[in-house]
Amino acid sequence: MSTVIDGKALAETLRSRIKQAVSELQAEHNIVPGLAVVLVGENPASQVYVRSKARQTVEVGMQSFEHRLPENTSESDLVQLIKELNQEPQVNGILVQLPLPAQINSEHIINTINVNKDVDGFHVENTGRLSIGSDSLIPCTPAGCLILLKRTIGDIAGQNAIIIGRSNIVGKPVAQLLLKEHCTVTIAHSRTRDLSSTCRQADIVIAAVGVPEMVKGDWIKPRATVIDVGINRITDNSGKSKLVGDVDYASASEVAGAITPVPGGVGPMTIACLLQNTIIATCRQRQIKLPEAIS
Ligand code: NDP
Repeated sequence: MSTVIDGKALAETLRSRIKQAVSELQAEHNIVPGLAVVLVGENPASQVYVRSKARQTVEVGMQSFEHRLPENTSESDLVQLIKELNQEPQVNGILVQLPLPAQINSEHIINTINVNKDVDGFHVENTGRLSIGSDSLIPCTPAGCLILLKRTIGDIAGQNAIIIGRSNIVGKPVAQLLLKEHCTVTIAHSRTRDLSSTCRQADIVIAAVGVPEMVKGDWIKPRATVIDVGINRITDNSGKSKLVGDVDYASASEVAGAITPVPGGVGPMTIACLLQNTIIATCRQRQIKLPEAIS
């Protein structure tokens, strides 16, 4: 049986360091970082995420600003709000909850956010900086995956990693991060041929696909480290609704050296990394050093 990578516990440790960092910023610079979260429409999953982000922001001592807009909001009205938040000194981080309604171009909205307040790390300039290996605000879920990996394995240089999924928000940035850490990276997607045997070569498997329990135990190299980003709601045989990942946990945990559960693996790390990004953004904007607690 493999080691279970406890993302919940690790996220809790990270949040307590963030809380300490917020206290340091307040004591030494009289700054209370602020995070603005913008939600357009009534998507139930998005509402849950936004509530959770706001609650955890306040719990670590930061200011939370919530902006809820109706489903029929126009792109120009949303652009106007982002421009106001860009100018607001108490707002150090801006997150626009995705997906946005169809009438709004997400790329345009993301690129309207001030690049130094882009705590999701999706702005084209942050994406570009990440791809050339320079300093950037790093997308939260990929940052969480990297922390989990390093806590589990230590130095990951030279390891063969496969990332299954090539989205802009998970797959591609994870690949860039692992490349920066000197892994040999394979990015797989829906057109990849013979995915299972390519996967079996990997020391590190990151699954970010959105297909419930797709990655089976016989795809996993013995003792490999498996990070399951997927969050899928399914109905089990007894008719109960439950969350599962993109990895078939039962069979994969028989083979892997270490594996993240769903829930309780990558998910909790995502919000912790968002809070950390808000502190990093604050320090960049004020041109001060990162607090000891998170540096
Ligand atoms: P996307 O739908 O944007 O991307 C999915 C990727 O998987 C695509 O690149 C697609 O390939 C690839 N893919 C789909 N089907 C297959 C297949 N059968 N074989 C191989 N590759 C396939 O998803 P996201 O990246 O946004 O999310 C991925 C998962 O991670 C979801 O379950 C999502 O809920 C979860 N998630 C979890 C987060 C967390 O905090 N834990 C945060 C964000 C996402 P192609 O490009 O060819 O279409």
